[in-house]
Amino acid sequence: MAIPQLDLKAEYDYLKKDISRNINACIKYQQWILGPSVKECEQSIAEYLKSRNVTGVASGTDALLLSLRAVALIKKGRAYFRSDDEIITTPFTFVATAEAIARAGAKPVFVDIDPDTYNLDPKALEKAVNKKTAGIMPVHLYGLACDMERISRVAKKNGLFIVEDCAQSFGGEYKGKKLGTFGDCGAFSFFPSKNLGSWGDAGCICTDSKKIADCLRSLRHHGQEKNGEVKNLGYNSRLDTIQAAVISAKLKYIDQFNRARKKVAKTYKQHLKGQKFITIPFEPLESSHSWALYTVRVKAKRDK
Ligand SMILES: *Cc1c(COP(=O)(O)O)cnc(C)c1O
Repeated sequence: MAIPQLDLKAEYDYLKKDISRNINACIKYQQWILGPSVKECEQSIAEYLKSRNVTGVASGTDALLLSLRAVALIKKGRAYFRSDDEIITTPFTFVATAEAIARAGAKPVFVDIDPDTYNLDPKALEKAVNKKTAGIMPVHLYGLACDMERISRVAKKNGLFIVEDCAQSFGGEYKGKKLGTFGDCGAFSFFPSKNLGSWGDAGCICTDSKKIADCLRSLRHHGQEKNGEVKNLGYNSRLDTIQAAVISAKLKYIDQFNRARKKVAKTYKQHLKGQKFITIPFEPLESSHSWALYTVRVKAKRDK
């Protein structure tokens, strides 16, 4: 029997009441743009991540792009990066990571991964840093934390910013601290198949910097300030009201769901470990895997 990789119907049956309650509240308020549902969603995510500010945006891709634009504006005083500004990232990620770097005006520089974790190799990262390097964009692939201690050390030593791509790692931790809270910004995706999925496209950015958060709120709203004045070229990239209602409902269950993923991963491990042709995921002690995907490596005959 074919087992679906993801069964959103089963999840919906379980969450029906919570989601309906939240959506009915939106219908009652009739505030469809940046209303109470978005505010509540942002606040509860901020509490969950223990971050000072969370800004909801239209997708995970926009979360990456707006993070980079805000960092350029606040830390470099420029609307976009220069074409020779280098931002180091991993080649082993979804295309959106490098796409965001290019759209923010900078040059994506790829550094190879650690073959055990599939994440950015900190040693190779250190070697790749040069005078043109502006920042680092680590990706916590499949839900596993990058080595944030070493990456942060390299960033600090060289005056580089960090934007974490947390699209696959909502709820994941490194040394007891939530992913997304190590860098200048943490960018999350609520694409339906992610650990915390909405009913369409949605994303958010967490940051401890009020300046960056204010800039993000302006950028997602056509670059408008609170008085309506347009200071920077922005986007229409607000978090949608209904998506916010769905995300708030699911957020209450994310730890429970991530624990269930952990249990499934443990079962896979029991049955797959010691098999000659299969390398199972590596689980470093310092990180709590959120198991967006359980990915194995095979020497040959992959499809079989
Ligand atoms: C899903 C994903 C994104 C993009 O998120 P969207 O919400 O689909 O725009 C970016 N980076 C990684 C690593 C992803 O897995």
